[in-house]
Amino acid sequence: MSNIYDVVIVGGGPAGMSAAIYSSRMKLRTIILEKNLLGGQMLETHIIDNYLGAFSTNSFELVEKMAKDAVSYGAEVKEFTEVVSVNKENELFIIKTKDEVYYSKTVIFATGTKHNVLSIKNHDEFLSRGIHYCVVCDAPFYKDKTVAVIGGGDSALEAVDLLSSWAKKVYLIHRRKELRAKPSLIENVLNKENIEFILENEVEDFLIENDTFTGVVLKDNRELFVNGIFPCIGSKPVYSYIDSRILKSSTEKEGYLIPGLKEDRKEKFFEDYSLKNGAFLIGDAAHPKHKQVSIAVSDGAVAGLEAYEYIKENFK
Ligand code: NAP
Repeated sequence: MSNIYDVVIVGGGPAGMSAAIYSSRMKLRTIILEKNLLGGQMLETHIIDNYLGAFSTNSFELVEKMAKDAVSYGAEVKEFTEVVSVNKENELFIIKTKDEVYYSKTVIFATGTKHNVLSIKNHDEFLSRGIHYCVVCDAPFYKDKTVAVIGGGDSALEAVDLLSSWAKKVYLIHRRKELRAKPSLIENVLNKENIEFILENEVEDFLIENDTFTGVVLKDNRELFVNGIFPCIGSKPVYSYIDSRILKSSTEKEGYLIPGLKEDRKEKFFEDYSLKNGAFLIGDAAHPKHKQVSIAVSDGAVAGLEAYEYIKENFK
């Protein structure tokens, strides 16, 4: 079969999977190219408790169902396939991976965000041996040990909750007095005996002994002995693989591209998602503020349908 598609979806999280159902159901030849496994950041959380119809569901189970649904109308999926560049020549997008080139009438970017990392000396050296960014993956390594989570958002509070069921003691270190996480997530952990909040404080350095991570030094010079830390300090999208001409019609806000943001809301709804001529940016990568599975799924539905409209109008 040729490598020419109607829709290439870059990224297989909930946004990309939802776009795939909608576009393939419109009989568009669709493929999802996913760097790792289908699921995106849902694979880094353990419970999804705010997705309608799937209250308090194990996130792996939900991903499994979504992945099955995503291909039910014939969409193809290629996992462990990283897209390295996307540009456009004449009418077609050219999507390059390390080993292959795909051509497509439309492209949907659903690449989510990448974790922000702590900017502290020796950080990279102790990645995965004291410093961890995937709580679901690495929490079991800290059974009966002492750990610290850094940050005050939803991810941090979820991390504290999960780690408290493995570790003997969990500290939450946050730089301000107020947490920004949702009240329900804070309430979940408030009365757990093995959790301690350290507020208005920050990690300034790591404690290392005989090439082993042994803890952190806080801003007030206090040494906190922990076996591991889990920074949950937000994330940012990566757009560097997308040719800048495709991104031209977007504006920028806090490091996020906001596709075709219009002052006049009477503009066609889809222009909120449309970058330029058949390119769409959806899901967490397009939302600086609210990152939710339900928002990603909704974006995917709109982009899948709009890809159909775009092709109908432009490829007669
Ligand atoms: P976030 O909301 O951006 O929170 C990041 C936290 O890290 C903030 O508390 C921030 O402090 C702190 N921080 C940032 N840089 C720091 C640094 N260099 N040193 C120390 N602390 C630092 O990120 P998130 O928690 O990953 O959430 C991202 C999005 O995903 C949000 O929209 C969230 O609602 C969503 N999400 C939702 C759920 C859910 O609904 N169950 C779960 C996870 C994530 P300040 O507060 O001082 O800025």
